[in-house]
Amino acid sequence: MTGVPDILWLEEIRKEDIPSVGGKGASLGEMASIGLPVPPAFVVTSQAFRRFLIRTGLEEPLYSILESLDVDDNDALESAAKKAKDLIHEAKMPDDLKSEIRIAYEKLSRTGDIVAARSSATAEDLPDASFAGQQETVLNIKGIDNLLKAVQVCWASLYGARAIYYRVKQGFDHHSVNIAVVVQQLIPSEKAGVMFTSHPVTGESLSIIEGSWGLGESVVSGTVSPDNYVFDRRLERITDRLISLKNVEIVADGNYGTITREVEKSRQEQQVLSDDEVRRLATYGIVSEEHYGVPQDMEWGIVGDKIYILQSRPVTTIKGPAAVKKDTKAGSAETVILQGQGASPGIACGPVIIVDDVRDIGKVKEGDIMVTRMTNPDMVPAMRKVAGIVTDEGGMTCHAAIVSRELGTPAVVGTRKATQVLTDGQVISVDGEKGLIYDGVIAQAAPEPGAAQVQASFAPSKIITATSVKVNVSMPEAAGRAAATGADGVGLLRIEHLILGLNKTPEWYIRNQREEDFISELMGGIKVVLDAFPGKPVWVRTLDAPTDEFRNMQGGETEPIEHNPMLGWRGIRRDLQRPAQFKLQIDTFKRLWDLGYDNLGIMFPMVSHPREFIQAKELFRQAGVDVENVDLGVMIEIPASVVLIEDFIKAGIKFASFGTNDLIQYTIAIDRNNENVTDMYWPRHPAVLALIDHAIQACRKGGVEISICGQAGSDPDMVTWLVEHGITSVSSNIDAIAKIRETVARTEQRIILDAARRPYGC
Ligand code: PEP
Ligand code: MG
Repeated sequence: MTGVPDILWLEEIRKEDIPSVGGKGASLGEMASIGLPVPPAFVVTSQAFRRFLIRTGLEEPLYSILESLDVDDNDALESAAKKAKDLIHEAKMPDDLKSEIRIAYEKLSRTGDIVAARSSATAEDLPDASFAGQQETVLNIKGIDNLLKAVQVCWASLYGARAIYYRVKQGFDHHSVNIAVVVQQLIPSEKAGVMFTSHPVTGESLSIIEGSWGLGESVVSGTVSPDNYVFDRRLERITDRLISLKNVEIVADGNYGTITREVEKSRQEQQVLSDDEVRRLATYGIVSEEHYGVPQDMEWGIVGDKIYILQSRPVTTIKGPAAVKKDTKAGSAETVILQGQGASPGIACGPVIIVDDVRDIGKVKEGDIMVTRMTNPDMVPAMRKVAGIVTDEGGMTCHAAIVSRELGTPAVVGTRKATQVLTDGQVISVDGEKGLIYDGVIAQAAPEPGAAQVQASFAPSKIITATSVKVNVSMPEAAGRAAATGADGVGLLRIEHLILGLNKTPEWYIRNQREEDFISELMGGIKVVLDAFPGKPVWVRTLDAPTDEFRNMQGGETEPIEHNPMLGWRGIRRDLQRPAQFKLQIDTFKRLWDLGYDNLGIMFPMVSHPREFIQAKELFRQAGVDVENVDLGVMIEIPASVVLIEDFIKAGIKFASFGTNDLIQYTIAIDRNNENVTDMYWPRHPAVLALIDHAIQACRKGGVEISICGQAGSDPDMVTWLVEHGITSVSSNIDAIAKIRETVARTEQRIILDAARRPYGC
């Protein structure tokens, strides 16, 4: 046989192979190649399917069925789909192809003979067209005859009514779409679900994980409302969790199929995932997102303590929802009658249409609010018409959520009882951002509030402020989103994440003479951020990892055990005592300056005395850096550095930035990570404000740029105070930029107006 073979094993596949193995197959091959724990699989290629069509003489009859079909005519669509599918089901698979599949199945069966056959269409899973759920998956297949039948079922699903409809509406040509079938060992998941590696609506670096008992189909299809975990990738901890009532699970029925059964009471409201499982899943998510360079939508399963990654594909693009205003009579507005999860932003108003199943979709009219237990792909034509969607079941990643985001239709999912509480014709408002359903038409049913918010956070702003508004970045892959905010530069690039991600301490690289590896990793990461901010300052902070964070890394065995790492061997004090470690960083920066990145500035953390700055600068000079012509500055995190600020200015700092996270804890003796004293952690404590004010005034007098990069710089009240007191720049979290820029602009305008209104001479 010439050309692409009928069968390809995962190890032979890369992401470029979509034309042969489809999006799903290519993604699995690529995932396996980067070390994600993917269950073993082979793919019946799309070429095998083409050859099947040719050798069985099906091509012509198939295309004549689809030619000139009006997909908006439901009856014609259903009948064409049935005819096309029957042709595929009934055709006899050529013997040589059967035998190739048999041999591959026997090989796969050596580690487990229950497999799943998953359609992998060449137009599926691609970045701009979420074909979620459009093609067939057959689970729990045992035995070659069942597998061969399942392969034909998958092939036929390329011609299901919903697939034909979706393809036509998305502009795909029937001749150019193809289908491959992934045959994969079935993982008898005890718990399973989905994950977005970044927030699917706002794009923040939050991994959103949804999970439930049994196989993942219950989450994907929306049969249950899953548990929802939010893992903040910057803070590296779970910041939110919603434990749902999971009353059913889908499991293998022991007879090559699956059954949906009731979950016993004791597990229904039990948390599905341990915190450690959430963290491990999020880590796999980061590996995948970093590899592909865009946020991923992943499926996973867990058996015992083994995690399997079943799928990873780009998160579908999020469009702003269409403005929806209906000419309806106002009801008892502003009364929240139901609550769920806001799955697709925007507000829509309209009359309810309850859709029990696909037979009801004929009743759906333009501008209705579709209310259903859970949408499925057959409902897509109706979903295109409606103004809003409400479901009883599902979470952020269910079918209704994915499709409504793609359609730009406001949606609230997982209300538990919308189909029981709402009635046909009742006028309601759906807030797809907050997850609320109101009776009647709400007053603020303005166009596109959800979209406005998303855009406000991420679109470059036209507001010009005298105070620069910069952004904090910790991981290079966030650079694109950070730059998309239109920020005036990066006020803090923490390199710890980059270095901790290497899983080896800088000392390890030195001990093993692998300095070049370290430099090239660090340089690569910083360069991504510099490239995203051409011509804008990027302040990179030298290493500030406490010893406890290094200890578990390779080379971390020699880290000292410290009672209080916060006050320990970290920041500039460690670098000055370990010049070889510091030199690795200096050499990296020097190479970047030599490459022409003159927007790079370097900031030293945890300085307590000007001599530390002077020593650091001297080490830069000794390494060949032209120290008078590059920007070297300090973090103000220790009260001592405020007291000695004038001496720092005399020592030649070009800028200073308040690290309020530490400045607060060291000023009022409140451990920032100790939950027993959290309520005493007071950013606007008068002593903290007095220190900040003192440093601002000294820096302004000395002509030194003064900024903030601690969390307080993302708080509008604090930023108002800082601008009033003369700060020259602020650096905030990506998601806070829009709000902070507006705060800065308003404060500046008020200051100007107040001055203008003051009587002459005052
Ligand atoms: C700070 O202390 O405010 C700061 C930005 O540094 P980190 O949070 O990394 O200690
Ligand atoms: Mg700090």
